[in-house]
Amino acid sequence: MKVERLTPIEYRDLILPQGYSVSKESLWLFTDEENTFRREVRAFLDKEIAPMTHQFEKNNVYPRKALKLIAKRGYVSYPFPKEWGGLNEGNGVTKDLIVSEELAAVSPVTSTARVANMLCGIPICRFGTDYLKEKYLRPILSGEKIGAIVITEPQVGSDTARMQTTAVRSGDYYLLNGEKRFITNCGEAEVNTTFAITDKSAHPHKGMSCFVVEKEMEGFEVVEHYELLGMKGARNGLMRFNNIRVPKENLVGRENEGFRILLDELDIERTVIAGEAIGHARRAYEIALEYSLLRVQFHQPISNFEAVSFKLAEMNTKIEAARLLALRAARLIDAGKPASKESAQAKLFATNMSVEVCNEALQVLGGIGYTTKFPVEQYYRDARMMKIAGGTTEILTYLIAREIISDANKKRREIKTSA
Ligand SMILES: Cc1cc2nc3c(=O)[nH]c(=O)nc-3n(C[C@H](O)[C@H](O)[C@H](O)COP(=O)(O)OP(=O)(O)OC[C@H]3O[C@@H](n4cnc5c(N)ncnc54)[C@H](O)[C@@H]3O)c2cc1C
Repeated sequence: MKVERLTPIEYRDLILPQGYSVSKESLWLFTDEENTFRREVRAFLDKEIAPMTHQFEKNNVYPRKALKLIAKRGYVSYPFPKEWGGLNEGNGVTKDLIVSEELAAVSPVTSTARVANMLCGIPICRFGTDYLKEKYLRPILSGEKIGAIVITEPQVGSDTARMQTTAVRSGDYYLLNGEKRFITNCGEAEVNTTFAITDKSAHPHKGMSCFVVEKEMEGFEVVEHYELLGMKGARNGLMRFNNIRVPKENLVGRENEGFRILLDELDIERTVIAGEAIGHARRAYEIALEYSLLRVQFHQPISNFEAVSFKLAEMNTKIEAARLLALRAARLIDAGKPASKESAQAKLFATNMSVEVCNEALQVLGGIGYTTKFPVEQYYRDARMMKIAGGTTEILTYLIAREIISDANKKRREIKTSA
């Protein structure tokens, strides 16, 4: 009897480079310049970041070194104008989407820390004074400092408008009190773009403000670091503000304008999280695809069995579909057009898809997929986060439903009036 292979397939037996599965048709929708950019990003990540990723996962090392290298290379800077150290040439969010996909495929934890860092800069850039941009934005973009976006609280998650952290004006300062939890880069970020209530008597949408809070300010306390299901190496925790004296110059935008500033940031956040989800799914899929070519059962590669190859076909189709939705949202934002529904759709679809694809990829590997010998189990755990952070699946579905129903009602009214 013929024996095909005596040794089990190892992760190192996989030889195709990451990203080989991105179809030419999918790339066709990006410009030549964006495709060249994607190749450069991938080459850089493979050379500089991939070799250090094992320490993040195995030894819970925070990816500070990787974040610095990435920022130095300019990969935090694309959504920002040149004036403040950015590199935006009109397609900044599209380029950030490319970075998100590529980095998440190589190192999910570095990617999630990079996105939080980048999001910390968005309110400062779009609403902050030149003083704030010089002091905080420029060092974030250059990699000198790390940032966090600080919204969620122990009592308030999805219902952000009802947050309880307060900032009370006292002379040249605001006195900041409250707790924030689940904050990515917690305790590592020197710059914390933080939302708090400045007018308790107003409607929640009209009484919130945004501040830059430094880790070094007196009264800034990290209470606890959470141990997460995935994203090993991440620093995510609970922070407390004990009467922090935040200088009035650190107010971002106008007082009580915070809810608008928060909403403004969400479209970019949801689009780039969609990009990360695509990266996770793509990597897990690529491992499963190649494994299926090597793994022989019943005298043939398992990719010959429809039960396996049809899974791969579905996975590939879903990844491509998610990329189209994310690209549409990015292009809209880059064009300065409203994209709240489109970015919510991109994140909703991509994050659901990613968990499904990572799950199916694990199934294609069989028992070995459930071990740590292949990183598919890691991508499966890491992908799960994306259905929660940046707006849960349920909240996004609700937002999309609200928009389509409101649009339909508006159209009905228009048709009736013109009839
Ligand atoms: C790994 C990780 C990283 C994060 N990073 C950050 C960060 O950097 N900064 C930050 O500020 N926050 C961060 N978050 C917080 C994240 O944004 C919140 O966890 C999320 O918004 C949900 O809030 P919650 O956990 O309090 O859940 P809740 O709001 O309590 O929701 C619990 C459940 O109820 C559902 N639900 C709530 N309201 C409704 C509704 N109206 N209709 C239907 N269903 C509803 C939710 O979908 C969810 O399933 C992070 C979270 C995680 C897990």
